[in-house]
Amino acid sequence: MSRVVVVVGGGISGLAAARVLAGALPTSVERQHGAGNPAGGPDIEVVVLESDDRFGGKILSGEFRGRPVDFGPDNFLTRNPSAAELCCQLGIGDDLVAPATSSASVVARGRLQPLPSGLILGLPPDLMALARSRIVSGRGLARAALDLLALGKPISASSLGLSPEENAANGHLSKGSVGASDPGGPEWSAGSALQRRLGREIVERLVDPLLGGINAGGTDQLSLAVVAPQVARALVGHRSVTHALRRLARATPARSAGDIAESRPFFLGVRGGIGQMVDALVADLQARAVKLRTGAAVTALRRTKDRYELETPSGTVVADGIVLAIPGYAAARLLVDSAPVAAAELGSIPHSTVALVTLAWLSGAIPTLPQGSGFLVPRCEGLIVTGCTFLSAKWPHAAAPGEVVVRASTGRYRDERSSSISDEELVERVLGELQELIGTSAPPLASLVQRWPRAFPQYLPGHLRKIERARAALGELPALGLAGPSLGGIGIPACLTSGEQAAVEVLDRLRE
Ligand SMILES: Cc1cc2nc3c(=O)[nH]c(=O)nc-3n(C[C@H](O)[C@H](O)[C@H](O)COP(=O)(O)OP(=O)(O)OC[C@H]3O[C@@H](n4cnc5c(N)ncnc54)[C@H](O)[C@@H]3O)c2cc1C
Repeated sequence: MSRVVVVVGGGISGLAAARVLAGALPTSVERQHGAGNPAGGPDIEVVVLESDDRFGGKILSGEFRGRPVDFGPDNFLTRNPSAAELCCQLGIGDDLVAPATSSASVVARGRLQPLPSGLILGLPPDLMALARSRIVSGRGLARAALDLLALGKPISASSLGLSPEENAANGHLSKGSVGASDPGGPEWSAGSALQRRLGREIVERLVDPLLGGINAGGTDQLSLAVVAPQVARALVGHRSVTHALRRLARATPARSAGDIAESRPFFLGVRGGIGQMVDALVADLQARAVKLRTGAAVTALRRTKDRYELETPSGTVVADGIVLAIPGYAAARLLVDSAPVAAAELGSIPHSTVALVTLAWLSGAIPTLPQGSGFLVPRCEGLIVTGCTFLSAKWPHAAAPGEVVVRASTGRYRDERSSSISDEELVERVLGELQELIGTSAPPLASLVQRWPRAFPQYLPGHLRKIERARAALGELPALGLAGPSLGGIGIPACLTSGEQAAVEVLDRLRE
């Protein structure tokens, strides 16, 4: 008898889960579970229930001035290869495109300053390059240089939110240091851990715009173990952050311009928009006989004797297994009766709201658009704009000849200014700030506001333990998997991997 597995949520995580449930064997699953792992197949009926009237969730591509533009994510990291691999499997590998430029600037005291090369998520292994960039003051640099004296205690794994085993895993650890006995204790935020070593200014002017920008948060409220696990691991056992970064930089040498232009870009986008990925995935699922339903919000979830019942506007759906690929707060609402502990953990993950403003001008209106793909704005600058992508420079296909297209981001954790004003007012505020920064006072040819309420989960210190507790509580429910960025990892590749893994877990439980 065939079993029914329902995926709740038709964003990229849910669609990826559905594909594995329907029998596909993505490379990430093969890597982790071996090629012999039996994926889903004919004995599994897969249903995707999506509340919206379209699939894709945060992935949304459309047209702006007749050109394809992304109104959500516009690229993905390639270090986790799952997204690029999926595109190839779906037949859109030839549409993958590297950004035409990857350099960026940061706002420093009201002016754009190019970021020095070699930064590792905003952290500078090379203080001389940082000095030349004029982003931080002489005093800020002198404070950061104190870190080179390596005076403090070695950094312990637990203080960064990593498991104590990471102390031993770090080969650099000397005998008798924290590897032998991690003092334990509460996890520091990324901001406070780094500030202790490098001083406030470096964190505010470099790390916060980069790490905070990616997560629409602030480093003072983010767990380093979640937002930069490779950096967190590299710091363990070191007394100096700068020494640890230099070691990390040597272990992962910077790629040359040739690498980026040829075969190994850090980021990839999709010509025609990241939405192409969703369209191709939906077509693939249809070919695999997955039942795909939009306008199907799941409003309640009940555990019956040996199955689940899901309430939707068009009736009850009965399932043997479930993947919840929805934000933590939405999963919490569904789990409140059947798994109250997990619901409380997932429901306590805060989210930040953002709004993107896409604008176009004739090229002549911005005679000196700065070089690079855009700029970041430290919170201490007080602007409503948190960052800006020069879409026409980064993705030449996104703008008509003779036009400049930029996309300004607004909103981050504990900065709700853009949520409380109208679209018209937001465009005005953004234009006012851009006038100062990129030097245009001409009215734009077109503008478009895309709002993303509660879009970015905030990985507060202790997040990984929170997820462990939620998973442990869910373990009592058979064949129920979780996917999506709430687990830890905002990017598309991490979401894909989480969806694929959740599907494998559910299949394994169904086969027990
Ligand atoms: C503005 C913005 C820019 C970003 N930029 C990048 C980037 O450049 N690179 C990158 O890698 N990542 C980026 N991200 C992050 C990335 O887009 C997201 O983390 C990822 O798309 C989330 O996918 P998901 O499927 O897990 O969740 P979602 O996309 O949120 O999908 C969840 C789906 O579940 C549905 N749903 C919710 N509740 C229910 C319910 N009760 N019943 C049925 N359906 C329900 C929702 O409608 C939604 O479609 C960005 C995100 C945003 C918002």
